[in-house]
Amino acid sequence: MKIYQCAVMGSGGVGKSAVTVRFINGSYLEWYDPTNRKQFTVDQQPCLLEILDTAGIDQYLTLNDLFIRKSEGFVLVFSLTQRDSFEEIIRTRETIERIKLPQETGHGIPIVIVGNKCDLVDEREVDMVEGEKLAQQWHCHYYETSARTATNVNPVFEEIVRQMRLQDYRR
Ligand code: GDP
Ligand code: MG
Repeated sequence: MKIYQCAVMGSGGVGKSAVTVRFINGSYLEWYDPTNRKQFTVDQQPCLLEILDTAGIDQYLTLNDLFIRKSEGFVLVFSLTQRDSFEEIIRTRETIERIKLPQETGHGIPIVIVGNKCDLVDEREVDMVEGEKLAQQWHCHYYETSARTATNVNPVFEEIVRQMRLQDYRR
């Protein structure tokens, strides 16, 4: 079975680890398997997904570059309660494109946009339409998730696998 590798990127504190743990382990903010691998089924086909949770490396640009080179797909996470983090994923995508595009076929890079912490309705700073607009612009999917309440987390990783498979077929 092919192992797909995706990186979860975004500002500190947006919930990258929480979303990853929720997906891998089904729990909230509890220890999980540090290999970050999960076997599951997408569109009736089994796959093995390895998730690079870019915890705490945001400051180290060269390490970020290494993670980007290593990954085929990217889950870009911001917090719906923090506008800065929404703007940050735009810069992150630019970095990914700069590193990836020269060797890609020009069909685009597998990306999924995630607005996390949708349970904090009173603290919302980014509207759903803004996320949807960005997704339209980038030709990708947008999900609003909550790692806390386990809302919409699985669809994020199913979609990134779908996108990575498509990229595979194009090669
Ligand atoms: P990371 O730095 O992006 O990996 O962020 P973490 O996963 O460590 O999450 C930072 C903090 O945000 C956690 O300690 C939680 O308190 C909170 N958090 C993460 N996800 C959610 C969520 O879906 N809902 C709420 N209410 N809080 C969350
Ligand atoms: Mg983290």
